[in-house]
Amino acid sequence: MRVANRPLSELMTSSKTATKILTMPIERGALGFEAEGWRVSGNGEMVIRVLGWYRSGAFPDDWKAQLGGPFINYAKRTVFTYYKCPGCETII
Ligand SMILES: [Zn+2]
Repeated sequence: MRVANRPLSELMTSSKTATKILTMPIERGALGFEAEGWRVSGNGEMVIRVLGWYRSGAFPDDWKAQLGGPFINYAKRTVFTYYKCPGCETII
């Protein structure tokens, strides 16, 4: 997966959690109780918000609160599955 034409490995922040959110796959659906508030729309909205803060060079002090505790916990505890595109070998 590439974001802004950069490979995932180049998206780094000083926060391990923010970096993990930036590189998480886009998901929606039945993802457990921590996804109760966002599973219908999916996590793409949160990833885009973090990407916006990343690109602006500044995260708000309450960025974790803005995304919500359950989402932060989900991002921290989940081991995500990634796939390699058979056409170009990009990790998606
Ligand atoms: Zn590809």
